[in-house]
Order: sequence, then C-alpha cells, then structure tokens
Amino acid sequence: MAEPFSNTALVLAGVVVGYLISSWVESFLHEHVSDALTQRVRKWERHPRLFRSLVNIYYSHHTIHHVKTYRKSHAKMFDSRRQEEELRRLLLDRGKHGETVIKGKFGTRLYGWGAVKFALPSLIPCGLLAFYSSHWFGLGLLVTVLLPPVMSHWVHPHLHQPFLQRRSQEPWWLRWFLGTRYFRWQYVNHFLHHRYGGTSNFNLVLGADHFRRKVRKPSVKDAKLLAELGVPGFSFECSEAP
Ligand SMILES: [Zn+2]
Ligand SMILES: [Zn+2]
Repeated sequence: MAEPFSNTALVLAGVVVGYLISSWVESFLHEHVSDALTQRVRKWERHPRLFRSLVNIYYSHHTIHHVKTYRKSHAKMFDSRRQEEELRRLLLDRGKHGETVIKGKFGTRLYGWGAVKFALPSLIPCGLLAFYSSHWFGLGLLVTVLLPPVMSHWVHPHLHQPFLQRRSQEPWWLRWFLGTRYFRWQYVNHFLHHRYGGTSNFNLVLGADHFRRKVRKPSVKDAKLLAELGVPGFSFECSEAP
C-alpha cells in the first residue's frame, strides 16, 4: 500500500510544527520566566532549592541584560569602563552563576549548560512528537527546534549593534542571515522589547508574539531611534515604512 505522505512532505511538516512550537515556547517562557513579574520572582526566591534555576535565568536576563547593561543605548553595553568593572565585581561576588553570566557576555549569549536549558522546553514536546510519529517528521522538527538557542547565541549579539555594522568576521551563513528581511524584523522586535522593559515583543523566533497579542508597534519616536541605528525603512521624520 502506498504511503499517505512522501518523506519530503513529512520533513516539511516537521519543520513547520517545530517552528510553531519553538516560537510559542520562546515567547511564553521569555514573558513568564526571563522577564517575569517581580512578585513572582520574590515567591521563587523564598524557595531557592526548588526555583534556583528560574531565579538565575531571571537574574541573568532581566536584571543584568535589561537593567544593568544597555542603559542609555540599545547598541552600547556599557556607558563607561567604570560601569563595566563595577558590574564585573558584583557578578564575581555572586559566585559560580556570576562567572557564567560574565562568560555569556553579560547575558547576550548562551554559555555552558545555559544552552541546554534553553533548548529543553522545546526539545521535550518535539521529542515526544518525534517518538510517536515518523522519523522523517522528527528530522524536520529537529531543524526548527534548535532555532531558539541558535538565535540567542549567534544572532542576539547582533541585535545590540548598529544595524549596518560591518560583520566580515562572522561565518558566511550568519553574514547571509544578517542581510535578510527576517533579521530586520527581529531587530525591530527586539529593539521594542528592550525599549518597553521586556513587557512585549518577546520572540527572536518570530510569530507567536502575534498569536499571543504581545506585539507593540513602533511609535514615531521609536522610528526615529531605529533610523539612528541605521535600520532600513525608517526615517527621522516619520513612522515605519511598510
Ligand atoms: Zn537583548
Ligand atoms: Zn527580555
């Protein structure tokens, strides 16, 4: 009897389903863990044995990446050498986790076990789906389920640089990606994420923010700042071009 779907169709279906799961999990966890509400983090802190991982994720992402770095500019991590040294000392006083944050470029890249923890929430549902379906479908899932850690480690640092910065030192595949419209959308989304204190525009793997109604559009002032950063399609006088 003929198979109902070709192997190619199964791989493509896996790619699409994996993308949707990755985007949704990323948007949800970014909102509810990495940028969780302060009251929730205080509750976690009362039970450190149970919630240490969540407290550490919040600390490295929200406290360090959102609050203690990129204070005045989206594209400049520190305002002075002194500010960097003070933060370095603060993190070293925190012990092993503080060292990990420093090695992860103050929350701009994944480092060590952070990469595995980051991939797990998407890997688990996709692993189960792959187990109960065909190998070809599982292969497609694997491609897109790795997108959140790939974006966080390799692409996120470029979302905190002026848009047209030279990138000749990067590998060819990353240089290609940084020239796409997808990267431009990511750049605008992430700029708005930081500008409004981590309360909207959570995705690097774009899509689920729209389904979850967590998207803020750039205001005229935002459009001017994006134009200053060199993002194509924005001007100093008006809001975003289509
Ligand atoms: Zn960021
Ligand atoms: Zn955030």
